[in-house]
Amino acid sequence: MRAVIDEQTCIGCGVCADVCPDVFEMNEDGSKARVIADNCDANCCEEAKESCPTESISLEG
Ligand code: SF4
Repeated sequence: MRAVIDEQTCIGCGVCADVCPDVFEMNEDGSKARVIADNCDANCCEEAKESCPTESISLEG
């Protein structure tokens, strides 16, 4: 399973990086999250997806 972030709607809240630090990290100025792993644990990424306040995370595969 791979996570994808919609950078148009991400508000940089940091929740996904807190929930799944192996998969998400904040960019240099903290304004957006980015995906740093090709594979993510389903439970962790489902939780991150559900926790994202702007529904910016989608899961593929
Ligand atoms: S939880 Fe959603 S809005 Fe917050 S940083 Fe992650 S992708 Fe962006």
